[in-house]
Amino acid sequence: MTQRQFASDTWASLHPEALQAMQAANDGHSSAYGDDPWTARAVRQLRDLFETDCEVYFVATGTAANALALAGICQSYHSVICHADAHIQTDECGAPEYAGKGIKLMTVRAPDGKLTPATIRETAARRRDVHSHKPHAVSISQATEVGTLYSVDELQAIGATVKELQLLLHVDGARFANALATLNVPAKAISWQAGVDVLCFGGAKNGVSLADAIIFFNRSLAADFEYRRKQAGHLVSKMRLLTAPWAALLESGVWLDNARHANRMARVLESELRDFPEIRILYPVQANAVFVKMPEAWNHALHERGWHFYTIADGERLMCSWDTQPEDVAAFVRDVRGLARD
Ligand SMILES: *Cc1c(COP(=O)(O)O)cnc(C)c1O
Repeated sequence: MTQRQFASDTWASLHPEALQAMQAANDGHSSAYGDDPWTARAVRQLRDLFETDCEVYFVATGTAANALALAGICQSYHSVICHADAHIQTDECGAPEYAGKGIKLMTVRAPDGKLTPATIRETAARRRDVHSHKPHAVSISQATEVGTLYSVDELQAIGATVKELQLLLHVDGARFANALATLNVPAKAISWQAGVDVLCFGGAKNGVSLADAIIFFNRSLAADFEYRRKQAGHLVSKMRLLTAPWAALLESGVWLDNARHANRMARVLESELRDFPEIRILYPVQANAVFVKMPEAWNHALHERGWHFYTIADGERLMCSWDTQPEDVAAFVRDVRGLARD
């Protein structure tokens, strides 16, 4: 087995139970394009989890989920308010603007990767005239790109502001499971009850599946979405292989165990790294990421020792995964200690 890294939770493998579920679904013929019992089970499980009759669509990537969800709720002349570090802004090659045929992202700089009611209000009020895009939606990431979380109260305040401004609320939940694991509240409390209209619920990073789910709590927004997904090439013919793992891991609870474990490993890594005065922790560690600022020489030396991690947002991002082991954390910290002693 190759060495586990702190590069990204996308580097981790699928959970073995996910692969088993795929294998079990890979038996004989079944109707295609999501019209199958595994997809029906996965949808049922998600409706149970969120305790509401939401509309669910599976697509192959988080980028597609965000882009199609935003295109689905916006007209081409609409804008979407988001954080300057949002994945939709920095890491999707313009997919939302491409799918939305002209939509614009209005970015906001704010601490800890999080929008606030005030920043949303201010951005929405910036331009309302016909020469500018019309603000129509707000997109937040939960967990955020810097590993922080919106609390239930913060989310409710944003939801209320969004509603008052007559906008729509999209959540990029590539790490929604990690958020739920820490907040330890019912899924509805950080989704529709807080005013979320559409959530992109990630499966890939959490080892659950090769697919992510787009969940419309505001069902009227999902009208004709089936056509949009098909046109974009995300109506996967052998859908059962993508949804069987979702169904299985939602049923067994492994999806949440995975997220809890990754978050726990991040907290252990953080507390170990706090022992080194040369290392600064840049953001509160609330999900599965630890952002640090370490001496540049240490960054190089750790890479030379075979560690992979990314330098992002002026620091080093150490990402824990569902399969990160205590011995991985210990090995990394041992190498850091070696540098501190040099
Ligand atoms: C990883 C990630 C995505 C989706 O990425 P894909 O590689 O397209 O699956 C979306 N949002 C955030 C915040 C992410 O970290």
